[in-house]
Amino acid sequence: MLRNDKFQAQTGTLYWIKESPSRHNTTNAEAHGEPVSFEGFARRSTGETLTASTTETTEQTPLTIGVLALQGAYAAHAETIRSLGATPKLVRLPSDLEGIDGLIMPGGESTTMLRFLEHRNFFEILKDFVHTTPTFGTCAGVILLAKDVTNPAQKSLGALDITVERNSYGRQIDSTILQAESKIPGGPLEMVFIRAPRITRTGAEVETIATRAEDPVLVREGHLLAATFHPELGHDPRVHQLFLDMVREDKKKRG
Ligand code: GLN
Repeated sequence: MLRNDKFQAQTGTLYWIKESPSRHNTTNAEAHGEPVSFEGFARRSTGETLTASTTETTEQTPLTIGVLALQGAYAAHAETIRSLGATPKLVRLPSDLEGIDGLIMPGGESTTMLRFLEHRNFFEILKDFVHTTPTFGTCAGVILLAKDVTNPAQKSLGALDITVERNSYGRQIDSTILQAESKIPGGPLEMVFIRAPRITRTGAEVETIATRAEDPVLVREGHLLAATFHPELGHDPRVHQLFLDMVREDKKKRG
C-alpha cells in the first residue's frame, strides 16, 4: 500500500524525461508494451483486477479512450483504462484523435508537451477536440486544459475555466501522497502529487469534487475532468471510472 507520508528521494528517475514521441501510428498493444519507471511509488501490478465502485458496470458500451502519448505518464493511464474494460489508444499524431470517444492528457512536463504540439497544427486540432469531446487532464494535462496559467504564464488550450499556478506546492522533493474524502463514494481517495499545479480560481460552472486543504484538486466542468494529482499511479480506479462514466454519458447523448 502507498504510505500517507512524503515519499523518498529515489523518485529521481522520473518517467517523463525519457520519452520522445515516435512519429508513427501506434497499436493498442503498444499501450501495454512500455513499462513506466517510477521508483518510489507503489503501483498496481499488471493484470490485477480492479473493482470500480462509482457505477453499475453491468451495461457496458464499448469505449475507445485516447491517451495523449507525446511525453509523460501515459502508459499507466492506458493500463488503468484497459483494466476498467475500455480500449486505450495512444495519440501521437492529430489523426490518432479520430475514432476515440474521450481523451486523457497525462502528467509530465507541460512545456515539453507544448513543444511537441507545435508540429502538424496539432495544438489547434487538439484545442478544437477538447472543446467538444470528453477530456480528462491530470497534472500537466490540467495545465494544458486550463483557461489561464501562471508561474509563469503559458499558452494553453483554454477549455477549462480555471486558473492554475504551476509547481505551486514546491519542488520534486515536496511531492506527496495524501488520502482525502471527496464527492466520489467509496471512502478516501488516494492522491499522488508530483510538482503539482495549484488551482487558484474556478469558474462558475466548475464543480469541485475533491480538495487538498482549501484547494480544489479534482474538478469537472461539463465534458471536462481535471485532477492536479496522478490517479493513474495509485491503486484506486475510481477517478478513471468517473471519466469513463462521463464518456459513456456523452456517447449516449450523441446517439
Ligand atoms: N510541473 C509540471 C508542469 O508544469 C507538471 C508536473 C506533473 O505533471 N506531475 O508541467
